[in-house]
Amino acid sequence: MNNETVFLNDVSNRIGEETPSSDIYIKKPDTLIDTGMDGDLIYNLLMEMGLEDEINYIILTHCHYDHSGGAKKLRELTDAKIAIHRNGYSSLSEGDGLKTASSLFGTKLDSFEPDISLNEDDVISGLKVIHTPGHTDDSICLYDTETKELFTGDTVFSNGRPGRSDLKTGNTKQLIQSLEKIQKLDIKKIYTGHGGPGKPEAIEKAIKYLKTAYI
Ligand SMILES: [Zn+2]
Ligand SMILES: [Zn+2]
Repeated sequence: MNNETVFLNDVSNRIGEETPSSDIYIKKPDTLIDTGMDGDLIYNLLMEMGLEDEINYIILTHCHYDHSGGAKKLRELTDAKIAIHRNGYSSLSEGDGLKTASSLFGTKLDSFEPDISLNEDDVISGLKVIHTPGHTDDSICLYDTETKELFTGDTVFSNGRPGRSDLKTGNTKQLIQSLEKIQKLDIKKIYTGHGGPGKPEAIEKAIKYLKTAYI
């Protein structure tokens, strides 16, 4: 099975398109991870790759607007199913401005009902769901147990910094616990929510950063 990962922001840079508001990955054969704010932009990038008819799942790493704002439009265009951790379901269906942080972006999420509610240890399109609250209470990492790739969302970035924990539903203690949880995994490469792909050592750096920042 072709389970290659494509970093869509590289595609947008290559063709001189606008950079999406979060890092977006295609996990072949049929899964899009996060959508940025602009569904039309992502659909153009999918078309550029010839993958617009291949996407069956849109998995959101958490409900923040910069990751989820394009999901509704992309579902209309691709007919894919939208999946999010169960804690984020109502944030999207109610279009909660604080929980989705859309108010920070000076806009309002066009609310929508996700199709799939995810729980710890679910496997969706070959990816294992790991609940990693801390940045938000619905944050998940997605783990490919075969290739040892981990999609981290905003739990950790490639530069070794953790995501913010001071927004609605954020919690620093939980963020440290979540980072310690994913640190135990056998990981070859991380694909983060901002800053692109990186090395798993970023997780340890983020734990150190948080622990020393809060003594
Ligand atoms: Zn976020
Ligand atoms: Zn983000």
